[in-house]
Amino acid sequence: MSDIDGFRNEVRDWLAEHCPEGARSGASGDTGDAMKQWRDTLIEQGWTVPMWPKEYGGGGLDRAQARVLAEELGRIRARPAFMGGMGTGMLGPTLLEYGTEEQKKRHLIPITRGETRWCQGYSEPGAGSDLAGLQTKAVDKGDHFLINGQKIWTSGAQFANRMFALVRTDPDAPKHEGISFVLLDMEQPGITVKPIRTIGGNSPFNEVFFDDAIAQKEDLVGELNQGWTVGKRLLQHERSGQGGLGGVGGTRQSPRSFALADTAKQYRGEKDGRIEDTAVRDR
Ligand SMILES: Cc1cc2nc3c(=O)[nH]c(=O)nc-3n(C[C@H](O)[C@H](O)[C@H](O)COP(=O)(O)OP(=O)(O)OC[C@H]3O[C@@H](n4cnc5c(N)ncnc54)[C@H](O)[C@@H]3O)c2cc1C
Repeated sequence: MSDIDGFRNEVRDWLAEHCPEGARSGASGDTGDAMKQWRDTLIEQGWTVPMWPKEYGGGGLDRAQARVLAEELGRIRARPAFMGGMGTGMLGPTLLEYGTEEQKKRHLIPITRGETRWCQGYSEPGAGSDLAGLQTKAVDKGDHFLINGQKIWTSGAQFANRMFALVRTDPDAPKHEGISFVLLDMEQPGITVKPIRTIGGNSPFNEVFFDDAIAQKEDLVGELNQGWTVGKRLLQHERSGQGGLGGVGGTRQSPRSFALADTAKQYRGEKDGRIEDTAVRDR
């Protein structure tokens, strides 16, 4: 039996023992206790983010193992532990790459446990497609930055307790070179969230206003004024979605998402680089 077949058997046995009926799609009645038990078990196992390193609350699985886990979770129709959102899918993988050891320890584990809800502070009224034109200003005050300005289209800001944001830290530098990537607390006096009501009556987006809001220096990710690089990397994770390092244990990680990610990589050049083939490109 191959290693991966052995791993599949282990996963099957583990799921049979640990995934309660009430945590599977189609379960009826009050499933609250079952879901809590399932969530706690997945967190303990590191399978809310199966491919993150174990020391940061992940499962330490490689891609093939994560694919098997997704298939087996799908087979028994296990529900996801929680909606992972921007923490597992976007910020986490970015911090794994650019965060300091201290930042990883402080922020990644709460993400794997669903304890922090992150929102994305990128777009501004005058900086959408031209994101590098952003004007929200962050002034260096020693141990923190003082932030003034406005973000817009901030999905889920009304429910978030943390934000990752691009801010202007050097107004005199060429626009891509004066931006920094910071993390900040949404529950502070300097932040006001105003939901934008859409024509359908919902408010998925918000305006977020900063009036002397604070981001601690220890929450600067990457180098000062190098935030454009960090911010772009995060957008790659946003686009690759669950084919990346994110994922929250449950049926959301469909085997199809892995297949799509593999196909995309072939064209992007990470595998055989078919995009380099002019015949393919011209078509
Ligand atoms: C569902 C959804 C969720 C979002 N969530 C978030 C979020 O959580 N956080 C966040 O920061 N942002 C979010 N955004 C905003 C998004 O990332 C973009 O910043 C925003 O949609 C584009 O900016 P804008 O609306 O100001 O459009 P504009 O930049 O004003 O563009 C308007 C139109 O003009 C076109 N255009 C612009 N410039 C040019 C040009 N030079 N030449 C030709 N055409 C041009 C664009 O293609 C577009 O069709 C979200 C957007 C959507 C749709």
